[in-house]
Amino acid sequence: MAEKQPKDTSGLQVWQWRTKAIQSAIAADVPPAEVDWLLQEVAGLDSLALRLELFKDWPQIKLRLPLEELEVLWQKRLHERLPVQYITGVTPWRQFKVVVSPAVLIPRPETECLIDLAVATVCKSQENLCLEQGHWADLGTGSGAIALGLADVFRKATIHAVDCSGEALLLAQQNAQNYGFGDRIHFYHGYWWEPLESLKGQFSGMVSNPPYIPTTLVSELQPEVMNHEPKLALDGGIDGLACIRHLIETSYTYLHPGGVWLVEMMAGQADVVREMVQNQGSYGDIEIHTDLAGIERFAVAKKL
Ligand code: GLN
Repeated sequence: MAEKQPKDTSGLQVWQWRTKAIQSAIAADVPPAEVDWLLQEVAGLDSLALRLELFKDWPQIKLRLPLEELEVLWQKRLHERLPVQYITGVTPWRQFKVVVSPAVLIPRPETECLIDLAVATVCKSQENLCLEQGHWADLGTGSGAIALGLADVFRKATIHAVDCSGEALLLAQQNAQNYGFGDRIHFYHGYWWEPLESLKGQFSGMVSNPPYIPTTLVSELQPEVMNHEPKLALDGGIDGLACIRHLIETSYTYLHPGGVWLVEMMAGQADVVREMVQNQGSYGDIEIHTDLAGIERFAVAKKL
């Protein structure tokens, strides 16, 4: 969100706006904490002041956005069901503040586990030193969140982040630069492994959170997702498995022996994904892992 000249507003007025907004959030089934998120990210209010409600007694608060404009944004949240992350332009993800826009999927908390799983898989491997140093791919990088996570945990690795959306890539690049990973994350415009042809057989690992929702279910998602997040990032074809199937069929030629294959999937897909990976014949050590809600959400395998 563009920085504006701070405006003086009375603390009492801000407090009254916040109280009303919290009530309207509860009535509209929106998490009330989003009001404070907006006040912090968009209006620049300090989190301690918010927690203690100190600001109520302040004669003047410098708001980066006048209350009337904040109200317009809040109405969009309530009535257009625009996700608060697209309003603030950022989302917390692992230790990062990831810049997002409607060109990319908002990185989800459960996806954070992919990074820990990549680390756990490498630590268990006999060839762990060589795995954490090599080439890693984040296929369908979107905002670049996974690439950031990988660059952070595998300090000596080179990360190759691919997306078919040019707009998403620009944002992902911005995120990489914001965290000083501009040199270690390389970006490619294209489909899945396609732009990485020259590195065939050399990858230590690939991580992907591909679109995995069956087409018919996309229209049934909550309006925040269905009306605002990119369909490209959600729609996994008739059975939701088109992209995962493609990643099973192609990845083994890009991974070196012992290389890690790691994807996120939807609840209910684990058994068929396991079977597909098994039947492909080029992978071993197949494991399914649950997310923090106990849903079977991740599949990991090693190239034989
Ligand atoms: N890799 C990004 C994420 O995990 C985008 C995923 C996607 O667009 N399906 O958030």
